[in-house]
Amino acid sequence: MESNTTPYPDNEIWFLTGSQGLYGDDVLEQVSHQARQIAERLDAAGPIPLRVVWKPVLTDADSIRRLCLEATASDRCVGLIVWMHTFSPAKMWIAGLSALDRPVLHLHTQYNLSLPWSSIDMDFMNLNQAAHGDREFAHIEARLGIDRKIVAGHATDPRVIGRIAAWSRAAAGRHAARSLRLARFGDNMRDVAVTEGDKVEAQMRFGFSVNTYGVNDLVAVVDAVEDKAAAELAEEYCASYDIVPALRPGGIRHDSLVHAARQELGLRTFLTDGGFTAFTTNFEDLGGLRQLPGLAVQRLMADGYGFGGEGDWKTSALLRTMKVMGQGLPGGTTFMEDYTYHLGPGTPRILGAHMLEVCPSVAARRPSCEIHPLAIGDREDPVRLVFDAAPGPALVVGLADLGDRFRLTANAVDVVAPSQPLPQLPVARAVWQPRPSLAESAEGWLLAGAPHHTVLSSAVDAETLSDFAAMTGTELLVIDESTSAAQLAKEIRWNAAYHRLAQAL
Ligand code: MN
Repeated sequence: MESNTTPYPDNEIWFLTGSQGLYGDDVLEQVSHQARQIAERLDAAGPIPLRVVWKPVLTDADSIRRLCLEATASDRCVGLIVWMHTFSPAKMWIAGLSALDRPVLHLHTQYNLSLPWSSIDMDFMNLNQAAHGDREFAHIEARLGIDRKIVAGHATDPRVIGRIAAWSRAAAGRHAARSLRLARFGDNMRDVAVTEGDKVEAQMRFGFSVNTYGVNDLVAVVDAVEDKAAAELAEEYCASYDIVPALRPGGIRHDSLVHAARQELGLRTFLTDGGFTAFTTNFEDLGGLRQLPGLAVQRLMADGYGFGGEGDWKTSALLRTMKVMGQGLPGGTTFMEDYTYHLGPGTPRILGAHMLEVCPSVAARRPSCEIHPLAIGDREDPVRLVFDAAPGPALVVGLADLGDRFRLTANAVDVVAPSQPLPQLPVARAVWQPRPSLAESAEGWLLAGAPHHTVLSSAVDAETLSDFAAMTGTELLVIDESTSAAQLAKEIRWNAAYHRLAQAL
């Protein structure tokens, strides 16, 4: 794979091969040569978006330990693929795996696809013995309690490639989360429960660093934006969207468009200067802001920033992390909120939206740029992008703090075109049919205590999210076509017991 085409130019997966000194140099040379070919095949595989970097074959405990420490210290290495081409006595791996702080994918493969039935001899058997070498390694992984994904099959198998691809995206998301800095402008919306949470626990679990700034710190930066820069960005808006006449140059509300541009430039400066990749706002705490940022937030999300309304830092951080996991994939990822239902006739559907802030990465077509009053917030009318979300399969994901742990809940849904046009609805929106049905999905979602703020993604799939949950030791409930309400209720009870025990004392 040409390294300059990866959507993750700063991230690598390291490919480790285990063996031992017993076989002699000739065999180890073959092991090395063949392992390198497999690593190169994975590196070149289109669906695997990260560089896969081959490392020299490991034959003793000290080199294993040193490589695990090197991976853990590396800012580039986000995870390890490990394979025992031959037999690598697994006590050699205890020190290394114990010191490792990177996700592990145990690739259970072999170099040859077919057995050479007529010519096979003991030399071939000794060279190609992953079938038992990997069992020895898997035993010590299980004994040490190493969180790992196991993928079995030949490296040419699309299923194998797909499973490695999902894991590598999750590893990149975990890596991004661990250096994620989130700026909150103001606190949570008053009296709301589900947007609260333990920020210290979140940093321990995921790595998010979440800190609050006075909204007037942002106002100062917005006010300092040069008039010329704001005017130029407003021109760019006019070229990028279908602008309503009032917002166009010479229109009676053009000043609001220029102010929206000023807000975007101010927010960008604040976030860039502070090294932030996610943020929140709260309409209850706008200080000297003339309007709740709508267009600015939508465009920042489209550039990969995490966002949560009403001070919802958990959803903002999750959005940023999922945007990283979905980098380079078709589809989009956005802040979302379950708003209202169509219960019939026809298939029941959810209409999701927010006051303003839905990311245009999910838009079906070029958005229109409009200005309308906002009933809450007590400020000037905000400019916003209005569009319908593109139809197709998607995931709706929520992150809740249950007090003793975080819980991810995901619902597989099908985004559909609205049944009819929505000419009076002045916000971007998505209409979707939850799987297995609205009733079962909603009953499960409520039983899980999952939030009303979510991330909707048509880019990130359930396997990637599941791998991310495993890597971070986070509970994940999935509601999809195979979910039954009774089974989910049991799973929620079992999970409560498991996660409390897993925390130990
Ligand atoms: Mn909200």
